[in-house]
Amino acid sequence: MIISRRKFLARTAIVTATGTVARLSAAPNPSTEERYKPLVISTWPFGKAANDVAIKVIEEGRSPLDAVEEGISVVEADRSNPSVGLGGRPNSASEVQLDACIMFGPGHKGGSVGALEGIAHPISVARRIMEITPHVMLVGEGAHQFALAQGFGAEAPGKSGSKTPQSKSADSKNHDTIALLALGRDGTIAGGCSTSGLAGKLPGRVGDSALVGCGTYADSTLGGVSCTGDGEAIIRVVLARRALEYLKEADDPDYAAKVAVDLLVEEGRGEGGLIVVDWRGRIGSAHSTALMPVGWMSPTLSEPALSF
Ligand code: ASP
Repeated sequence: MIISRRKFLARTAIVTATGTVARLSAAPNPSTEERYKPLVISTWPFGKAANDVAIKVIEEGRSPLDAVEEGISVVEADRSNPSVGLGGRPNSASEVQLDACIMFGPGHKGGSVGALEGIAHPISVARRIMEITPHVMLVGEGAHQFALAQGFGAEAPGKSGSKTPQSKSADSKNHDTIALLALGRDGTIAGGCSTSGLAGKLPGRVGDSALVGCGTYADSTLGGVSCTGDGEAIIRVVLARRALEYLKEADDPDYAAKVAVDLLVEEGRGEGGLIVVDWRGRIGSAHSTALMPVGWMSPTLSEPALSF
């Protein structure tokens, strides 16, 4: 169900003359009472492999940032995946250009790469940018050179067993992103996403998945959000960051996700979905697409959970 964003804003906040959103009345009752901490949550069926690795990392007592990087890396490494990593769909010039971003809630640290060619793990390059440079984002040839200088190997794109990239798809709707959020036992949150983006895109096109605040945002005092869908629409509404603002107002991750999808459709003029986790371990998700499988795992759950 898509909840009217106007109704939401009328219920929880007023927009002042200066445009600042101020809390006016009590938020709706949280509909998501279950709390999972620690927790990992990700998008699409290929997220299961990412969750399996990410939850192990957390259980070993390592950081949610490691969990996000290592979980996403599993999907990037799978050359049979049609929309993530070097096996992903090429652009209109038959090149595979990858986008990824990572964010660590404490300190609002972020790193990202856009239109990166020939490197298998854009999520790791994004993390390296975050950790060792004064920058947040590197793109194209600069990102490639940085990755090589950091010891990431150059690799040819394409499917397993094939020396050349697959032919480009005419279907520009053919795209998906691995989006993953991890909440540590101590309440720290990390998030990330990685994709080959829109099939047949113009060379140099950078989507939401490379943009902190659009594809992913994490703030350990509030929660984390990660998105999938029409990159241009997600960018137009700065979806991940806006969803966190809704979470702040409503104190209900599922409600925030639904209102954010309403924003994506109404103002962004596109389709997609997002996953949300708050600092207490409550989760939410919503999508305007027909399906968006979301899987989550926590040691407090007897088995992995899945929603569509
Ligand atoms: N958001 C990605 C992009 O536009 C693709 C997707 O998630 O489906 O590049």
